[in-house]
Amino acid sequence: APTGEMQIASGELRTADGVPILLSININDPAEIDALDPATAGVGLMRSEFSVTSIADAANEERQLAIYRRVLEQAGDRPVTIRMLDIGGDKPLAGLEDLPALSPGPRGIRLLLARPEIARVQARALLRAAVFGRLSVMLPMVTFPDEIDRMRELFREEAEKLGRRALLHRMPPIGMMVEVPAAALMLDTFGSAAFFSFGTNDLAQYLAAWTRDDIDADAGKAAPAVLRLIAQAVKLTVGKPVSICGDMAGNPSYLPGLLAAGLRHFSVAPAGRHAIRSAIIGLNADGTRAAGE
Ligand code: PEP
Ligand code: MG
Repeated sequence: APTGEMQIASGELRTADGVPILLSININDPAEIDALDPATAGVGLMRSEFSVTSIADAANEERQLAIYRRVLEQAGDRPVTIRMLDIGGDKPLAGLEDLPALSPGPRGIRLLLARPEIARVQARALLRAAVFGRLSVMLPMVTFPDEIDRMRELFREEAEKLGRRALLHRMPPIGMMVEVPAAALMLDTFGSAAFFSFGTNDLAQYLAAWTRDDIDADAGKAAPAVLRLIAQAVKLTVGKPVSICGDMAGNPSYLPGLLAAGLRHFSVAPAGRHAIRSAIIGLNADGTRAAGE
């Protein structure tokens, strides 16, 4: 992208009192990358499970590479965070029906580590795609630090197998979703996570012991607890990049609380980006309403 665009993308959005804010988009369908307008910082979350929906897709490295490459190329200079497959629970993968045999409720990173043949194909596709843009890899449903260490090791092994030594130096940053309460409480122990992104959909679900559908219908009741947990967890991020990509980020009514919690990077569904941009401009960085608003 031209330099002018980059400046808009990275520096133009500020709170009323002048604190820079990053606004990124979440994409499900890769075609949504078209919503990456010059005022958007990048892709804060690409949910790869919308592109990889069957066990055949999960085994198809070339198909995955083509999808990730297209998104990265279209994003150009702007960063793209692709989340590894979050399957299990309410997110099925066609052809993978033997889940209960693994352990109760495997989902996200647990499922990927329990079925490393799926993770290895995706890791290879991501490593090969990384040269086409500014890729970060995000791990879903992380609960314990060793899960990140094990996935990083898997990436290292696959990079070596790809046989390009240069690839080892181009290892994309590997960060994690913060969407399991046990992880949020212990964020300072996740030394090998390169970055954090709060997933409030699952955080609310697991914090309130509700199903996801209940939360969708009545997220407001769990919000105070979610906001308090986020505020505590942000203090444990020890200077690493931190963002929020759960649906609360796209709802302007939660913005004061999220700003007050210290969040400065919001990733929202494309349809919500204009409303959030306007809301940010009208608020101070501590979440209070700007004078005259
Ligand atoms: C979340 O849990 O908030 C999140 C962003 O991930 P997903 O909605 O895909 O579970
Ligand atoms: Mg989630």
